Amino acid sequence: MLSKEIENSIRKMALKNALDYGTAKASAVMGKALSEFPELKHDLRSLPADIERIIAEINSMPRQLLEKEAERYTGEFSAERAEKAARSGRHSYMLNGASSGAFATRFPPEPNGYMHIGHAKAAFIEQEVSKIYRGSLFLYFDDTNPEAERQAFADAIKYDLNWLGISFEGEYYASDSIERLYAYAESLIKKGHAYVCLCGPDDVKKGRQEGRACEHREAGIAENEGFWKRMLGREQNEGILRLHSDMKAENTAMRDPTLFRIKKSPHYRQGSKYQMWPTYDFNTPVMDSIHGITDAIRSKEYELRDELYYKILDLLGLRKPHIHSISRLEIRNNITSKRKLNELISKGLVSGYDDPRLVTIAALRRRGITPAAIRELALRFGMSKAEGSVGIEMLLSENRKEIDAHSKRLFLVKEPVGLKVSGMPGEHMDISIKLHPTEELGYRNYKLSNVFFINAYDANRLESGQKVRLKDAFDIRITGKEKGALEAAYENGNSAEGARIAWVNENNYVGCTINMVGDLLNGVSFNSESIISYKGYVESYANQLSEGETVQFGSMGFFKLDIKKSLSFLSL
Ligand SMILES: [Zn+2]
Repeated sequence: MLSKEIENSIRKMALKNALDYGTAKASAVMGKALSEFPELKHDLRSLPADIERIIAEINSMPRQLLEKEAERYTGEFSAERAEKAARSGRHSYMLNGASSGAFATRFPPEPNGYMHIGHAKAAFIEQEVSKIYRGSLFLYFDDTNPEAERQAFADAIKYDLNWLGISFEGEYYASDSIERLYAYAESLIKKGHAYVCLCGPDDVKKGRQEGRACEHREAGIAENEGFWKRMLGREQNEGILRLHSDMKAENTAMRDPTLFRIKKSPHYRQGSKYQMWPTYDFNTPVMDSIHGITDAIRSKEYELRDELYYKILDLLGLRKPHIHSISRLEIRNNITSKRKLNELISKGLVSGYDDPRLVTIAALRRRGITPAAIRELALRFGMSKAEGSVGIEMLLSENRKEIDAHSKRLFLVKEPVGLKVSGMPGEHMDISIKLHPTEELGYRNYKLSNVFFINAYDANRLESGQKVRLKDAFDIRITGKEKGALEAAYENGNSAEGARIAWVNENNYVGCTINMVGDLLNGVSFNSESIISYKGYVESYANQLSEGETVQFGSMGFFKLDIKKSLSFLSL
């Protein structure tokens, strides 16, 4: 009899062997087991049979399940590493220059798409530092691109933030301050710090790349004021306002960046009131400064723009907040780019923004991920700037900790094989099984007949004469193995030995659909096996679950009831 620890280790070895070579080989696993656990040499009589049993089980499992189980282990390991990093990184929430009690930061979404896990990470970190520094967190809509922005996106972002449990001291919109931003632009023009450029976009780009100024840079202040007035008044419909900076600067972000451009589409919030719209580079520092933000957090890829942020505030004589850069959270084998998401949606490869394979907040909500799990993952990174993506497994393993205590346990049988039990006491047997091993979640009660169904991979490895336990019910001894069905005899008692197998009874099962959710991508290409669906039998108690509820199907793991009507579950 192997100890639980050794049994688990051998199972991991067999799993890895099966994933590496297609099927697990007893000799390879035996060698590994003996070298890792030398004490097994005393069990050489029973060890081969134990290993054969484990190998047979692993080899009868479909690859998808093997991978899922393997992910669970890598999840454990990376969780350990990250937890260690998080523990040692307590001070990674230290912000240079920030002062406790006089602190304000903001979460700055652009309402041009749906929130994803990367946004949520930033928002949770901002929430955390606001608490640590006893300050305020504001919601700032960076909405100065009317072509892409929609009220529906702003509403969805607020809905998601509320669902995540992130609240704000107040909210404000860049588009509500356009006239104020105009006034600042005019003050730059008046001092010769900004000019109107009438070059086409390609010429502007080329000039920047080559560090070459255009003729418009030399125009006088009065001329620029004239252009600017006509642009605001819509008498002139071409041109951009550029900062008179340094066309030879090493940092290309400083090569006369664009401060304003013309956008004729109506704005979702301001209608057709304006046609001159500030760029991110201009409105971000100004809005931060005039709204009392002391510390702005933004992702590392903006670092080259920090110099510009400070320069604009210097030229305008405005107070300068501190900028802190953090890494962006990316999920391996998944995407957050709007363009790529739209492509997958239009090709019909995913069903929409809440497709459970995605990492938008809507998708994570539908999948059954809790806000607490997303927060836990986000806070592991602190203010770290270290780049790198993490597997979705890291989030799933956080989530399992969150849902474990309130997820009911039910039996699921896939590829059902019939099992007839003789000698049961009475024609029907009343049974009452706890819905959770440790929590008080109640019971499920059934009247069992003598016809059961068990999983094919359990049925395949059972031998005639073998004793096994129908989990949480009673022991049986296999008496016959016919094609496609098993026969067994009821044995009274509750033995600890032997396998415990999942089952359903002909009186207590309903059909269900199980969707195993995998990675969206295989590297860069779409993973055609990102969802594998199959039919199974689940206990009829499943009809009493509410849509959205999470359950655990024994060793198959956690699932969320996605669609109640069809009893369709998503793997977690
Ligand atoms: Zn020009």
